[in-house]
Order: sequence, then structure tokens, then C-alpha cells
Amino acid sequence: TFKALVLRQDAQQTLAAIEQLSLDQLPEGEVLVAVEHSSLNYKDGLAITGTGKIVRHFPHVPGIDLAGEVISSESALFKPGDRVVLTGWGVGERHWGGHAQRARVKAKWLNHLPTGFSSARAMAVGTAGLTAMLCMMALQTSGITPHDGPILVTGAAGGVGSIAVALLAAAGYEVHASSGRAALEPYLKELGAHHIIPREQLSRESRPLESEQWAGAIDTVGSQTLATLLSQMRYNGAVAACGLAGGMDLHTTVFPFILRGVRLLGIDSVYAPAPHRQQAWQQLAQQLPMALLDSLTRHIPLEACPEAANQIMAGQIQGRVVVDL
Ligand code: NAP
Repeated sequence: TFKALVLRQDAQQTLAAIEQLSLDQLPEGEVLVAVEHSSLNYKDGLAITGTGKIVRHFPHVPGIDLAGEVISSESALFKPGDRVVLTGWGVGERHWGGHAQRARVKAKWLNHLPTGFSSARAMAVGTAGLTAMLCMMALQTSGITPHDGPILVTGAAGGVGSIAVALLAAAGYEVHASSGRAALEPYLKELGAHHIIPREQLSRESRPLESEQWAGAIDTVGSQTLATLLSQMRYNGAVAACGLAGGMDLHTTVFPFILRGVRLLGIDSVYAPAPHRQQAWQQLAQQLPMALLDSLTRHIPLEACPEAANQIMAGQIQGRVVVDL
């Protein structure tokens, strides 16, 4: 048997508890993985606390990220002993996920661990870091260079935000980090932020166009914050929008788009095509300063996941949380 965090649903709420499971309880899939590390993302917070109903079938094992070693494989793509990583594809949402010592998954969802990554560091990156890299790549593909001006990162002290700040700063961009937690200014500066912007400056109502400030932005917050930053984009600027930590609504005008040529780029990591994902992992291995990654990462045991899930829903998690299995 092996240990897993199992979610069950009663009439009112989602209950999370550690249980011993056997291999024959795992869902179907070609590859059985000994999970060494998983992580905690905002989406895991939603699943574990039962917010937003992202899990439809119970019992369920959460965990949208996992990394470890292949035990057995019916696919020619993987063999026992291979070091692997998985993020997204609905794992931890529709398929049982990484918050367990064993996972059985489809071969096409797995990647070989990029050279230079331990399973612990791959999970420190996880969906959050992959998303941050996909956002930066989208800005770069849109032609935004460090010479064009400052880049705004919202929800900066969170998982996606922290890694976005570190990646952009390492690539030479001037990073302005928006955070609701003034006490985390030293942390954000350590990651490479040039300036800290209080969250309220962006979550207030804005005029359709405000003075031009940002050449680019990575937004993890959505709602009024995204509307306000859109009104502050420089001519021809680009915004990579990936999150909804502040809400899923978006009330804006077309003015930033039709008068300033601003581009709004949607970013999804869950079904990002394999080659794009591969490229992002490669660039993470080359460009993300590993000492900074370690400094923004905290490790917790599986038993601490329910409490950490409440914290991430309350916006109280700093950086990345790796779950040790
Ligand atoms: P996280 O660690 O909880 O970070 C979210 C951050 O947003 C918080 O740390 C906080 O930053 C800020 N925040 C929280 N509540 C807020 C509010 N009410 N108003 C304004 N800011 C608020 O979560 P994460 O894992 O980094 O994920 C961030 C977002 O990206 C989530 O919405 C998640 O669903 C989304 N996401 C999307 C993808 C994708 O593929 N599109 C992938 C990963 C994540 P400060 O304390 O610094 O203000």
C-alpha cells in the first residue's frame, strides 16, 4: 500500500484525509510512477478546499504536478528507472494526481526530467513556474525586449508571480512587482524586482486610458487589476494574462487595443502543446537562477497539504510549496 491525500465529498463539503491505498485502486494509465515530490498550486487549493467545484468525481487524489521515477511502463516512451515530470493535462482535476506516493498516468502526459533538475526542483518550478515561463515567452514572441520599458508582474509574491519576477529580472527586464503584502518587499527585491507597487494602486477603478507605464505585464490576478493595468500599457505593449486570483471578471474598454495597439495574450499551461512545453522546460533549466528558486521554495509533508490549501486560498502563501512524498 501507499500513502495518499484523498478527497471525499459529503452533502456540504469536501473532506481531505490521508489514506492508505493499494495499486489496484489507481486509475488506468500506461505508466506507474513512484512520486517523490509534488507541489501546491492555487488550483490544488481550489480542489482540496472544495472551492469552485473543479473536482467532479470522488474519491479523488489532488495534485496537478508530480515528479519521480518510473516503476513500470506499458509504453515504449518510458522504462523503469526513468526520471519524469508531469504538469497539467487535467491530472489532479479529472484524473488522480500527485498528492500520493504512487500515480498511474498516460505516457503522453509525462516529460523526461530536464537535465539539471532534481525532482524536488522540478516541483519547485511546477505548473506555476512553467506558466511564468510561458508568459515570459509570450511577451518575448510579441517583441517586448528589456529596452522597451518596465514589465509589471501582479500577484508577485505568489507562486507564478515569484518565478515570473525571478525569470524576467534574470533576462534583464526592469521588473515592477505588485503585491498586497508590503512586508514582502525585501523578498521581492531579492528575486530581482526594481520597484514594489501596492496592490490597491491597481485594484482601484481606472479611467479607460491612463498614463502609459508598462511595456509588458504578466497578470495572475485578473478582474479590476487586469482592467487597470490594460489602461496603463505603453503603445504596442503586451499583457500575458494567466490568472484569476482577484476574480474572473474583466470590465474594460477597447481603447487600449484600438488606440495603443496593446495586445492581450491568453496563457494556458494545462494543455500547452508538448513541443512548446519542452521548450519552456529547457529555458527554465537554462535561465532560472537555481539559488533564487531554492530561496522562494518551502517544503511540506503530505499531512500539511489541507492547511496549506487554506493558506493559498487566503493569498497567504509566499513563493512555491513543494510537497515531499
Ligand atoms: P498563489 O501562489 O496563491 O499566488 C496568487 C497571488 O495573487 C497571491 O500570492 C497574492 O499575491 C495575489 N492575490 C491573492 N488574492 C488576491 C486578490 N483578492 N486580489 C489581488 N491579488 C490577490 O497562486 P499561483 O499558483 O501562483 O496562481 C496564481 C494564479 O494563476 C491563479 O489564479 C491560478 O489559477 C493561475 N494559474 C493559471 C495557470 C494557467 O495555465 N493559466 C497556471 C498556473 C496558475 P500578493 O500577496 O503578492 O499580492
